[in-house]
Amino acid sequence: MIVERPVSESLHSEAQNHLVGGVNSPVRAFKSVHGNPVYFKEASGATVIDVDGNQYVDFVQSWGPLIHGHSHPQIIKTIAETMSKGTSFGAPHKGEIELAKRVKQRFPHIDMVRFTSSGTEAAMSAVRLARGVTGRDHIVKFDGCYHGHIDSLLVSSGSGLATFGIASSPGIPESTISTTLVCPLDDIGALRYLFEEYPGKIAAVLIEPLPANNGLLIQRNEFLEQIKEVCEEDGALLVFDEVISGFRFRNGGYEEVCGVTPDITALGKVIGGGLPVGAYGAREEVMQHLSPLGPVYQAGTLSGNPLAMVAGSSTLDLLDEAAYDLLDSLGGTLEDLVVPILEEKGNPFRLVRMGSLFWFSPGDGEPPRRADQIPAAAGEVYADLHRGMLARGYMLAPSAYEIGFLSTAHSEDNITGMAAALEEALIEIGD
Ligand SMILES: *Cc1c(COP(=O)(O)O)cnc(C)c1O
Repeated sequence: MIVERPVSESLHSEAQNHLVGGVNSPVRAFKSVHGNPVYFKEASGATVIDVDGNQYVDFVQSWGPLIHGHSHPQIIKTIAETMSKGTSFGAPHKGEIELAKRVKQRFPHIDMVRFTSSGTEAAMSAVRLARGVTGRDHIVKFDGCYHGHIDSLLVSSGSGLATFGIASSPGIPESTISTTLVCPLDDIGALRYLFEEYPGKIAAVLIEPLPANNGLLIQRNEFLEQIKEVCEEDGALLVFDEVISGFRFRNGGYEEVCGVTPDITALGKVIGGGLPVGAYGAREEVMQHLSPLGPVYQAGTLSGNPLAMVAGSSTLDLLDEAAYDLLDSLGGTLEDLVVPILEEKGNPFRLVRMGSLFWFSPGDGEPPRRADQIPAAAGEVYADLHRGMLARGYMLAPSAYEIGFLSTAHSEDNITGMAAALEEALIEIGD
């Protein structure tokens, strides 16, 4: 059992003098699991080692990008070779073409790609492009979907069926979100209502087709199909934010799984292989509105960075049939082992899984499809689980609303071990 982390503790108290809350991204602070962050020293494959020398099997994997685990030798080698020739050119280079080709292969509706340095930028720019193309201002987002920390999208639902949202953060002017409409997931009637209220005014409907930032809220394919129909009837563009789901599924993204093709796709995480990359793409007719071909402006000093491009290409090249077979089989094992344990313990959690993504969803019965179906006490129950798993050397996301990630670096043993730790942790919680 890992009970103490003195070096992590002392780094965290030092960090708090210099970095806000000691971190550069809030959920890393472990606040919602009532703990202090673990400082990593190094990581390889499925394993991370903390500054106190403790080892953990990591199911966070940098929050999604590391589909081949930490420090994959081939990816590291390609980055190192590329780095020796320069870290940034600020000019076009072949690596950008290479990664773009690989993206198009897996997302056939995309004719042209634009790379950014984060998923936030990709989603933000996709919205700007949709507004530029349609000449409309309003956008629809869904309650429970996250699209990065963009002002106009940091909005959650107000009261009522489908409404103007309320900013989820201070610092966002009312005027900035006055064109953001918020709709519940799994409710096509609510979306139709918005289109009736704002006919010809909605530029885009933006959705994570597999919402994975507020738990894993698996949508009915039918719902996604209906969204597409509603968009087509009105001339609004459908934007799929596949920053988390992109490349997690054989042949591309979740669009392949649900059978619905969007107008614009935003990508991130896996596409950068652990370096900062985002991207968006669409058919030529849409993308040609973008500068320098068209008037919609978007740029980036480090966009298309050579190290990031090769890390991405290398990651996608490793994602062959065998890799997806492995991810599927690990996911299957996880389900086979974990579901009976949860049942035996009275189902304090449900295991929700889609491919290599999983979520310990607090509660019993049908998995939630909407944000408001997640029990309010979810955080408290999950904090105990998280603490128990961490003590046993298993790193889960430090929040009830964040999902877990399997990588090709995980082994069946890692999953067996995790299931055993889960059983012990649940017994402890029950006591
Ligand atoms: C992570 C994420 C983002 C934001 O990406 P960053 O690289 O953190 O800016 C946007 N959309 C979705 C669906 C994400 O999962």
